[in-house]
Amino acid sequence: MDIVHVASEFAPIAKVGGLGDVVSGLSIACVKLGHHVQVILPKYSFLELDGLEKVRDVEVKENGKKIVSQIWKGHFEGVELLLVDPDHPKKYFKRGVIYGEEDDNARFLFFNKVACAAIDKKRCDVIHLHDWMAAGCSLFLKRHPFAKVIFTIHNLKYQGRCSPDNLDRLGIDYDQGEISDPIFEETVNLLKGAIQYSDAITAVSPSYAKEILTSEQGCDIEGTLIQNRKKISGILNGVDTEYWNPETDPLLAKTYTLETREEGKAANKRHVQERLGLPLNAEKPLVAAITRLVPQKGPDLILYGLEKTLENGGQFVLLGSSSEDEIRQEFEAFENDPNVALRFDYDEPLSHLLYAGSDMLLMPSIFEPCGLSQMIAMRYGTVPLVRRTGGLKDTIFDGENGFTFDVPDNKSVALLIERAFAAFEQEEWGGLIETGMKTDLSWDASAQKYLKLYQ
Ligand code: ADP
Repeated sequence: MDIVHVASEFAPIAKVGGLGDVVSGLSIACVKLGHHVQVILPKYSFLELDGLEKVRDVEVKENGKKIVSQIWKGHFEGVELLLVDPDHPKKYFKRGVIYGEEDDNARFLFFNKVACAAIDKKRCDVIHLHDWMAAGCSLFLKRHPFAKVIFTIHNLKYQGRCSPDNLDRLGIDYDQGEISDPIFEETVNLLKGAIQYSDAITAVSPSYAKEILTSEQGCDIEGTLIQNRKKISGILNGVDTEYWNPETDPLLAKTYTLETREEGKAANKRHVQERLGLPLNAEKPLVAAITRLVPQKGPDLILYGLEKTLENGGQFVLLGSSSEDEIRQEFEAFENDPNVALRFDYDEPLSHLLYAGSDMLLMPSIFEPCGLSQMIAMRYGTVPLVRRTGGLKDTIFDGENGFTFDVPDNKSVALLIERAFAAFEQEEWGGLIETGMKTDLSWDASAQKYLKLYQ
């Protein structure tokens, strides 16, 4: 098949979070299965890729004025990348960042228009759009359909709400009633457009696909989702099992396999304790949280998990990226406890060591579309302690490969820690680790599901 993705991220060359991993992971897996895969993304100024060649110019109009975009072609592990480089007076993609600009809606809508014009219609069976940053394509493709359109929801919270002026400037022909925001009626909602006009919609886990139909997790767009529910399915993300591999990971103190995990994990645990100034102790359970410290991830519950870990005689490491002082300060009350290490950074190398050296990973998310951390933990023989929501519910099963709870409150977290610590003392612990390490978390199975949907 000829598959074309339109996306704002592609790991590792343009990545902010999980979205970039999914676009590249899925694309590479489909190439390996014999398909032709093209990914169209903006040519960000910071993007580095060898062997780029300019293939052509695409002209689109904005406010009646012609703007030329250069289209560059490159390759990454068999995936063909088409990079859109607009010669726009506002230098849309030459600002050193992917998101966070006040004109993000205008930037990505413009990219969407060029992307649709750049697609080779003779080599395109399916167009796969990712999140609101590509949702605008559905508006162009609705008027000029030449392939089936799939839209994937990675996180419903972000919807591309913008003023109709953004669409008018690009000469987009649309029906305001069909794409007006459910709350702010004067505003256009790009994600709503993609929900209405795509041929199929996926969410990144089966449970999340159900949860987004509820008022609790529907982010105010559940009405439109419910109307289109027949088109919606959930496909779990995979993990890059070559990159996240305890057998070969160069960032570990000692690599290990399922068979050598006891020595391997013990060496990494010792290394983590030494490096973070924790007392050297092989017996105490070491609990880690590796996360963005944002409300979605349940920071209050992580904090309570820390307290309970200490009360039950364990050690706790937090690797949490946070821009919110208030959240940090609450954790800092424990800064001087010898059994606590706090790192308020995004630190990829340290995260690898923690996945390998910890005994448990705490992930009490309020909502979680799929979640990657719990799957990485499983690969490294670290037992996930999670709230049963979204992708966590689909990957972690109580007493089999981790411990789970439902109600997001302190009582549940206290019980969770107590149960996990009790199991840590028993033989069953080895079974939990083994089940996790043996699980196939690769992209292969998920890519097959996407291919079936494409077909
Ligand atoms: P989300 O995409 O919502 O942040 P996921 O669990 O899907 O959550 O993916 C998180 C990814 O980011 C994982 O690879 C995790 O290891 C990594 N990560 C999260 N926070 C940090 C951090 N502070 N330092 C290093 N890596 C982090």
